[in-house]
This record gives sequence, C-alpha cells and structure tokens, in this order.
Amino acid sequence: MSSSVPPTTLLGWFDVHERDLPWREPGRSGWEILVSEIMLQQTPVARVLGPWSEWVRRWPTPSAMAAASPGEVLRAWGKLGYPRRALRLHGCAQVLAADYDDMVPDDVATLLELPGIGDYTARAVACFAYGRAVPVVDTNVRRVIARAVHGRAEPGNPSRRDLDDAEVLLPRSADGSYSADAPRFSAALMELGALVCTARNPACENCPLTDCRWVRRGRPAHTGPARTVQKFAGTDRQVRGLLLDVLRGSADPVPRGSLDAVWTTDVAQRDRALDSLLSDGLVETTGSGLFCLAGEAGPDREG
Ligand code: SF4
Repeated sequence: MSSSVPPTTLLGWFDVHERDLPWREPGRSGWEILVSEIMLQQTPVARVLGPWSEWVRRWPTPSAMAAASPGEVLRAWGKLGYPRRALRLHGCAQVLAADYDDMVPDDVATLLELPGIGDYTARAVACFAYGRAVPVVDTNVRRVIARAVHGRAEPGNPSRRDLDDAEVLLPRSADGSYSADAPRFSAALMELGALVCTARNPACENCPLTDCRWVRRGRPAHTGPARTVQKFAGTDRQVRGLLLDVLRGSADPVPRGSLDAVWTTDVAQRDRALDSLLSDGLVETTGSGLFCLAGEAGPDREG
C-alpha cells in the first residue's frame, strides 16, 4: 500500500515546493505553532498570515494572552471567522500559563487534555512543533490518501481508519522505527493536498506521485453523495459576523437597536444569531441591558 506514496519522492518534491510560511520558520515555539494551527483549521492560509503575525507579536506566550480579556482577543480575531476558536485559544492560554509553566506540551496525550484542543490540533502541534512521528490527518491528507492509495476520487466520512492509513505511510528505518523524516513527511503530504492534489482539478501533471491508484484506474468519478459547498451569504453565520462587527467596532457597550439595525431581512434569524452569540459566550449583556463582547461587561462598563 505504501508504494503509492514513496517517502523519498514526496520529500524530494517538498524540498522544492514547500511554501515559505512564517510558522514553519526554524525556532518557532510550540505556542506560535498552536496559534497557527487553530487559525488554519477553518481559514485559508492567505487570510491567516497577517493576523497570525500580529497575534504572536502581541501575545508571544500563553501568559501574555491569558492576561488579555476575552473581548480583546475577540477584537483581534477580526474577520477570521468561527470566532469561538478565539475564545477556546484564550481558555487554553490560561491553562498553559497556570498549569504548564507557560509551555505547550509536546505529546499528543497531554495536548488533548487542554481545553479546546482536538485530535487534529494535538497531532499537528506534536508533529510540526516538536518533531513527533505521529500521523496528522486533515482534509488535504485524506484526499491524497483517498486518491493515491485507495483509487477513489474523494475520501469517505472521517474515521479512525484515516489515521491508520496515514500511519502506514510514515517512513520507517530498517529496524522498523519511524525515521527522522517522518514529521516532515506528514507536512509534505498535507502540502501536496493543498497545492497539487486539490479538491477540484488536481494538477496530476505536476504531481510527484507517479503510481497514483486513482489515475491508474482512469480517474473514476465520485460515487457517493455530492460534496456540499458551504455557502455564507444569508446564513446565520453571516448574521453572527455582522453583529460581532458592530461590537468590535465600538469601544463601549451598544444598545440592542444598534444590533437590530444590521439585519432587517429576517428578524427571527437576527434574534437567533444574537441568542447563539450569547449562549456561546462570545457576547454578554451589561447590568443595564447593553451588549458587548465577552469579558467587557465590567461594572465600569455598564453604560
Ligand atoms: S496523481 Fe493526481 S490524483 Fe493522484 S495524488 Fe497526484 S494530484 Fe492527486
């Protein structure tokens, strides 16, 4: 099975084509890499570059971020989307500062004990920050494996098997242990999925994998349910973003009317979006019924 993705071939390609991304620079801390992984989970690289640089400059350690208010962190998150990630990162920073001597752990099991850290992030940080030979599976890796190894156009639903598939591919030394290249191999597999084996129109002519099973099978079409493309316009997510924009744009708590004005197309949807922001802990109300970002409803801010 592993012959579809020869480590030497993939690593040679990565040596030439690896993107020059700031969180990959030598000497980056586990904290800086953790921040990048959280940001990259649901936001494209191009939109993460600026905010990531600003965040690690402003909050170079977990304790630096822990000292900020949740509202400051939400303001700095700006338009990265899915802002609950910002609050989770803030909560994680507080635990790292209080219980981990301001250090990000280097093993998957300990990372998983931290608030807001899921299996993917734990593996990515252990691998990319600390060189641990653990499989790291994101959507790009799943797609490359589906095609090159299994001969399918698209991966199936995420499952434990994804990790097993990726683990089998990791390069090993003659004695069976993982080779020193294993972490870099994981990064290379991910990069191939991001740059070449893309969801639409994979650039097979530029691919280093010359024994891809999907290509050998004549590129059979995807047979499962069609992939759903997430729309944004008109969704609750868009309305939540508009409401947060108002709060981020104001130094002071705002009245309900300022929020109501941002979305009049569907008032029930607007109310639902605001309720969800409140229940997610992203927004709160002051004692006098004004609205503000989390952590900004102190007694001196009650309007
Ligand atoms: S040959 Fe094409 S489909 Fe196969 S891994 Fe490369 S880019 Fe993906």
